Amino acid sequence: MKEFIKNLRFAWNYTKDNKFVLVRYLICDFFSIIIRVLIPILSAKVIVYLTDNKFYQLINIAVVIFITENIFNIISRYSKYCMNVVYHDALSKVEVDLGKNILKLENKIIDEKGSGVFIQRLTIDTSRLADIFVVLNIYITNILTEVGMFFAIFIISKLVFCYLVIITILLYIIQKLKTKKFNNQDKKYRKKLEKVSGFTTELVRGSRDIKMLNAEDNFINELKDKIIDANEEHCNMQKTSRKYSFYIGGLLDTNDLLLIILLVYLISNNYLIVSSALVIYNYSSKISYLVDHIGILLEKVKDFNLSTNRINDIINSNEFKKENFGATHIKKVNGDFEFKNVSFSYGKKKIIDDLSFKINANETVAFVGKSGAGKSTIFSLLIKMYDIKNGEILIDGININELDKDTIRGNITIISQNPYIFNLSIKENLKLVKKNANNKEIKEACKIACLDEFIEGLPDKYDTIIGEGGVNLSGGQKQRLAIARALIQKTEIILFDEATSALDNETQYKIKKAIDNMKNEYTILIIAHRLSTIIDCDRILFIKDGKIKDSGTHDYLLKNCSEYKELYESELSKNE
Ligand code: ADP
Repeated sequence: MKEFIKNLRFAWNYTKDNKFVLVRYLICDFFSIIIRVLIPILSAKVIVYLTDNKFYQLINIAVVIFITENIFNIISRYSKYCMNVVYHDALSKVEVDLGKNILKLENKIIDEKGSGVFIQRLTIDTSRLADIFVVLNIYITNILTEVGMFFAIFIISKLVFCYLVIITILLYIIQKLKTKKFNNQDKKYRKKLEKVSGFTTELVRGSRDIKMLNAEDNFINELKDKIIDANEEHCNMQKTSRKYSFYIGGLLDTNDLLLIILLVYLISNNYLIVSSALVIYNYSSKISYLVDHIGILLEKVKDFNLSTNRINDIINSNEFKKENFGATHIKKVNGDFEFKNVSFSYGKKKIIDDLSFKINANETVAFVGKSGAGKSTIFSLLIKMYDIKNGEILIDGININELDKDTIRGNITIISQNPYIFNLSIKENLKLVKKNANNKEIKEACKIACLDEFIEGLPDKYDTIIGEGGVNLSGGQKQRLAIARALIQKTEIILFDEATSALDNETQYKIKKAIDNMKNEYTILIIAHRLSTIIDCDRILFIKDGKIKDSGTHDYLLKNCSEYKELYESELSKNE
């Protein structure tokens, strides 16, 4: 209960602006409870007046019922409307808040936990949190109505009340047995369902490779097995449900018969008048749901607590640590920076080992080395995707721990191997980084990125949609679009991670030309997988095991660094 109140307070924060809407719907609910208890009493009177031929009273009572039911309809509709306002407001606010907090998390946490954890919490858990406002409305009103009916029966006849309490306890026992079995099966079913949805995601994401591997049949068979497995568990759940519904139905039917016998006995012995017996009979069909409703409410509260804790963990707990930034803001950095004795490891294994180097503004520097040497990690550290334990990274002479987020990430762009291009038009993709970028700026950037000719050849030119339902871009074109994006963003430092996959000579030439076009105006760092791209860089740093093995121009390294020479010669022989 304490946990529920704490979580309810947490959920309340997301919809407290609607407190008056909530008050209105509580008032509506209060009146609807009264009316729902009252209507069976009025209906009983109709039957009594009808059988006693009291037509004048009959018309009066019919009019009262008519008005009461209409009022009930109006207030329950209004209550539903208010409930929806509260639900949607809470849902949208918690989704936005959680999304904001996920983007603030340390990258280490996202690497460790995997994206599934966050997707589940952003979708299912947020809706379960908001759901509590609907659940409380529906089930609390139902339960209070049913308790009100119980109370009315207690006033009418203590004997019938005791009898119905016994029936309710029996129903409770059967429900409890059903829930225990059902929950176990439900857990198994959800796990199997997760496997199905995980596999279908893989099927969609990997559809190209599945086709290329000619593995469609294997994939479909695997999917079929997983679906059948989940369906079997679902059938087991339905079997349990049918079995216990049979017991509950049997008990309720027996109750109907026994109750009629009891009521007839009480009427014939003048312990009860006919109209009261009718009211009790009418109530009894409704209060049989009491146990059901309490069970569902407790289940929903359990789900709510679980989901709210999972959301709260991301927002407030230490398990999900947020990125830390300093307070110093520099609007436009110069573009020089320095690594001073930097060491870093993702887990236990040291990736960057006491690394020191300095890059001057507007220099073009390449990082070369075998795969796994730590080149991409250097880039990640420079934009503070991870915190370093030893050493210092300085931008314009200031430690990056003192700089704020905008200074670091607003002044450095990474163009990754396979940049993410959004399923929007080319223009919209470019405007993402600068909302008010004009057509001239956009065209200029695409020209420098050697992409203008390609775009002009498209049917809708800059308005062409990219990705699903539109034009697909090659790896090289995506990188050039990302270069154009960086140019529009006008960041001083551009980190370029050359694609590992083989690009055709023409594409490679265009990317090189795009980089050459930016030289001397930006600080450009390139992770080179093909040395031909970086021969004329100002400097080349040869990285080995997280350290600089040697550095200098291409010619210097060819003469003085045997490993660089080896790498270059092996590349030449591949191209021959
Ligand atoms: P390079 O760019 O030179 O190929 P990376 O910097 O990508 O090298 O990787 C250096 C080492 O760090 C590799 O052994 C790689 O497996 C490991 N590594 C890279 N990223 C992560 C990560 N997010 N979590 C754990 N290990 C990582």
